[in-house]
Amino acid sequence: MLRVTEIFHSIQGESTHAGRPCTFVRLTGCPMRCTWCDSEYTFTGGEHFTLDAIMQRVREFGCKLLEVTGGEPLAQREAFDLIKRLCEEDYEVLIETGGYVSTEDVDPRAKIILDIKCPASGEAERNHWPNLDRLRVDQDEVKFVIADRADWDFATRIIKEYELERRAKAVLISPAWEQIDLQELASWITQSGLNVRMQLQLHKYIWGSDAHGV
Ligand code: SF4
Repeated sequence: MLRVTEIFHSIQGESTHAGRPCTFVRLTGCPMRCTWCDSEYTFTGGEHFTLDAIMQRVREFGCKLLEVTGGEPLAQREAFDLIKRLCEEDYEVLIETGGYVSTEDVDPRAKIILDIKCPASGEAERNHWPNLDRLRVDQDEVKFVIADRADWDFATRIIKEYELERRAKAVLISPAWEQIDLQELASWITQSGLNVRMQLQLHKYIWGSDAHGV
């Protein structure tokens, strides 16, 4: 059984897959408490679903791109079984993980979108650094949410130290919602010379920042 906050079909709002129709399985619970978290409603509640019930629900949407997210999707042990089932049914599976849990046991067919927490999140101490060694350049992406200049300086240091431009399919730079001037962030990126990708959360522009299940 897995505790599930919501299952829905929408437009992927982030990553190199932004703009594509996508089914989302949002699992309940997260061991972290990022200061700017926009998913606090996933910390508690949810409904228990068997793996079969989840598979049946996602099949109804008829969409082969699927993201397992949260909360922290890898915090529930059975999530690894769900990911395997989805891969076996030929879904293109994206895992949006907060970077605290090891990705070691994730089915290798799934694509990892790995958050690296910056200082303003309050959770930078909990980054599980060995996850960076498992990145695959053809399919995995890393994401930094930037709230201020100190976050950007942290991100540039980590990008260089771990050679992330070379090791990940994309290095995503995402502004913390309404916390940082977008033009200022864009200028830091262009001045840096780094091969990174600034991304905005497309779904928030379409449905608003507080919408769930769309
Ligand atoms: S890891 Fe994600 S869900 Fe968990 S507190 Fe941070 S932003 Fe929220």
